Amino acid sequence: MKIPVDKPVLVTSALPYVNGECHIGHLRTYVPADIYVRMLRKMGYDVRFISGSDTHGTPIVLSAEAQGITPEKVVEKYHEHFKHVFKTLKVDFDYYGQTDSESNHVRTEEIVNKLIEKDYVYKKVVKQAYCNTCGRFLPDRYVEGKCLHCGAIARGDECDQGCGKHLEPGEIIEPKCKICGNDAVFKEQEQFFFALSTFAEFLSSYLDKLGGTLNARNYAREWVKKELLDWCITRNLEWGVKFPGSDDLVVYVWVDAPIGYISFTEELLMGNGGWEKYWKDDEAAIVHFIGTDIIYHHCIFWPAMLKGAEYSLPDAVVASGMVKINGEKFSKSRGNVIWTTEFLERFHPDTLRYYLVAQSSHTKELDFSWDSYSMRVNNELVGVLGNLVHRVLTFARKNYAVVPEGDIEKEVFAAIEARRAEVINAVEEYEFKKLVDAVMALADFGNRFFHREEPWHLIKQGEEGRARAGIVIKNALQLLKAVCILLEPVMPEKMDEMWHQIGMESDVHSVKLDELMVPIESGQALGKPKMLFKRVET
Ligand SMILES: [Zn+2]
Ligand SMILES: [Zn+2]
Repeated sequence: MKIPVDKPVLVTSALPYVNGECHIGHLRTYVPADIYVRMLRKMGYDVRFISGSDTHGTPIVLSAEAQGITPEKVVEKYHEHFKHVFKTLKVDFDYYGQTDSESNHVRTEEIVNKLIEKDYVYKKVVKQAYCNTCGRFLPDRYVEGKCLHCGAIARGDECDQGCGKHLEPGEIIEPKCKICGNDAVFKEQEQFFFALSTFAEFLSSYLDKLGGTLNARNYAREWVKKELLDWCITRNLEWGVKFPGSDDLVVYVWVDAPIGYISFTEELLMGNGGWEKYWKDDEAAIVHFIGTDIIYHHCIFWPAMLKGAEYSLPDAVVASGMVKINGEKFSKSRGNVIWTTEFLERFHPDTLRYYLVAQSSHTKELDFSWDSYSMRVNNELVGVLGNLVHRVLTFARKNYAVVPEGDIEKEVFAAIEARRAEVINAVEEYEFKKLVDAVMALADFGNRFFHREEPWHLIKQGEEGRARAGIVIKNALQLLKAVCILLEPVMPEKMDEMWHQIGMESDVHSVKLDELMVPIESGQALGKPKMLFKRVET
């Protein structure tokens, strides 16, 4: 989706659910979102980048009960953990909040009240799982059983191992209590429903205009074409945002979680006003980065809620494919998982950022293996990029110490210009693999150019040869400069190092794409060449 460059952009990344540690499956959403934001800024956009911890819902309450601590304690621990991971990985949010904040409670109540006022919410008696042994209702993850639609083993609110459908209370067969393991019964109870079905027509035309990736739109369209069922938005829990006018009900976590996007914008702009520009006045573009597992929530529930409560609608939903490990589904319970912290203790974060986008198309599944990771690092980062930088710089330092005199050749500018266009296209298509492929092709061009011109021969051929070798080096340095600018969004720390090695003094993080066509300055002192990447032993 092409956004006019004078339009402010709000980019959000799906909220991590803070009842466990970050694994590399999570990163498939955050890292590309961060790359997207950094690239938009290089293209001249005014961008705000937000996310936060999703703190409510039954899994957190269950893990708090299991550990004998409060939900707040669970949230605090993993909220800090995720913040630390993002900092290490240079996923640089302008604001990272959490959904139990005061302002999120207030904003959620306001939105729910608005939906009630406009008659989009109604009361209904439903059958709900109840445990006679524990003497309580069993919302969402408190109950397990079989999916009403496909018969697979399912959790109370989601058929996670079968058809993937969202399950309403009562849609589980043969329910069992998760606390004591006994059979549960169904008991009648009054809950509140959001009249999602009345939004079918709106959603169908909204999805036609929605930007982002095709997988998100297509999946959501299928749902709208079938029957849209009203949505139970209350739960019998204490932990969460109170349902207005009720003492024993909170809103379902999927109500207050996306509202976090609004509250975090408010919190970010606190005191400066201006959040309305993003969420009320349609003056900005809103782009959501999510995983394919939460398309339903972001393309159906969320726009219907926003429309009903009179808020601005998201312009794009970008859904990343899921991560597998060695061909198998990610599973914490089966130990098929790679923890981010452990990974980062051994390897540089930038190599992981690179791998996550280079390995497969953004919307496709990514199959992680140590073999493919080490191949990417060894062949591409060490073999192509690191090698080029080292060869050019070592030669340049030894023979000139500074950037030599000369003009940038037409073919070099043409190669940079062509790759710049490809990179911009890739950003607009949310195809981050195309982005890194284009830049690596430029590095490859640099290697071929250097090899073809043979400056090591030229330098031995008198004054004229030395001058020509200088021109070759200056052109090679121009290519390095371009690669560095274009790859900074992917590998911010390593490209900062490289930027200084080629003698640049400005800040590579804030340099714009226009700088690609500015000739590197002759006479600029070159830094000491140092290997940028280390080989990964298989
Ligand atoms: Zn199912
Ligand atoms: Zn029980």
